Amino acid sequence: MTRLPMMAGNWKMNNTISEAVVLTQELSYQLEHDWDDVEVVLCPPYTDLKPVLTVLDYDKSAVKVAAQNVFWEEKGAFTGEISVRMIKEIGCAYSIVGHSERREIFEESDESVNKKVKALVAAGLGAIVCVGESLFVRDEGIALMFVEGQLRAAFAGLEPNDAAKCVVAYEPIWAIGTGRTATPEQAEEVCAMLRETIAHMFGGACAEEMRILYGGSMNTGNVDMLLAMPNIDGGLVGGASLEAASFSQLVKACRK
Ligand code: PEP
Repeated sequence: MTRLPMMAGNWKMNNTISEAVVLTQELSYQLEHDWDDVEVVLCPPYTDLKPVLTVLDYDKSAVKVAAQNVFWEEKGAFTGEISVRMIKEIGCAYSIVGHSERREIFEESDESVNKKVKALVAAGLGAIVCVGESLFVRDEGIALMFVEGQLRAAFAGLEPNDAAKCVVAYEPIWAIGTGRTATPEQAEEVCAMLRETIAHMFGGACAEEMRILYGGSMNTGNVDMLLAMPNIDGGLVGGASLEAASFSQLVKACRK
């Protein structure tokens, strides 16, 4: 089975509405309209979701939109949170869940990641589930074990058809925003383990279907080597997604 590559741009806390509109227009112009061989996803801050979707709708673009985070409860007294129903109505196809910045800065646990994944798939949306080890964990020689634990916790209790709606992003924390990329072999070792774990949990068909992305200082110079690895199906990109020129190059790298 050939998996549809995905290139997802995580804008993090960048771009006001006016900046987001300009960036989306530039991107939409630089990506040709007529393609169906890569799934492109933009992950803007909440305030930019609607404006970005409006530009994409106007351009009849196939680019999809994801939230960067979501809360698992349906509604109620949860000041500052955004529900799955809210991002679904606005037009999001996915939400990122468990990004290392949320785990580190906002103390998100494996349990809350699991609740978010369950809430998303219950509503028919996909989760882009981030996993990845710190430098300390890698230097201790336990990266594979640690990342497998994160994956098992995130997907605990899911049915195979729900798990199949999700995408996994392997993002070693020591490579995020540092300019230090994992070597293709380091990334492949972890991504292969992730696919094997998915096969154990949900069966071979689900594992074959699921996209596994690499994230961590992916750029136009290293993308080809990373995408050449058999278990890397695309990228989750921070810095290089903030410029239309570099992000569209990364998208094009997926189409080769
Ligand atoms: C990210 O934040 O998901 C990421 C991979 O960032 P960067 O590409 O900037 O390392």
